[in-house]
Amino acid sequence: MDCIFCRIAGKEIPSKVVHETENVLVIKDIDPQAPVHLLLIPKAHYPTLLDCDDTRLFGEIIEAAKDAAKKSGVDKSGFRLTVNTNEEGGQTVFHLHMHLLGGRALAGKMG
Ligand code: 5GP
Ligand code: ZN
Repeated sequence: MDCIFCRIAGKEIPSKVVHETENVLVIKDIDPQAPVHLLLIPKAHYPTLLDCDDTRLFGEIIEAAKDAAKKSGVDKSGFRLTVNTNEEGGQTVFHLHMHLLGGRALAGKMG
């Protein structure tokens, strides 16, 4: 399967890894929308949030996000977690991932 995030998670394609757990890779986004813009990528392939019902994995992603926020120094100032889903949700890469944004005041509204 030709999936860019599978290739990144398998370390076939290089990326800036900031944190890693058993099932999740946390990397810097290639086109950052904030001073801190990380992607939490499960190593297993699920096209969208709707395709995954692994609640342990969801827990691992959230815990990895908390750790990555601390490592990146945005835990106290604040950050936002987002899972864009399908077309109107703004999803462009169809391998489940969560964004972590921080390092500046984010707009109060969601979009
Ligand atoms: P989506 O729009 O699907 O929620 O988010 C996809 C994100 O992946 C975008 O923010 C985009 O900049 C990022 N992205 C796409 N290709 C690559 C890549 O090859 N490497 C990294 N680090 N980020 C990527
Ligand atoms: Zn994939």
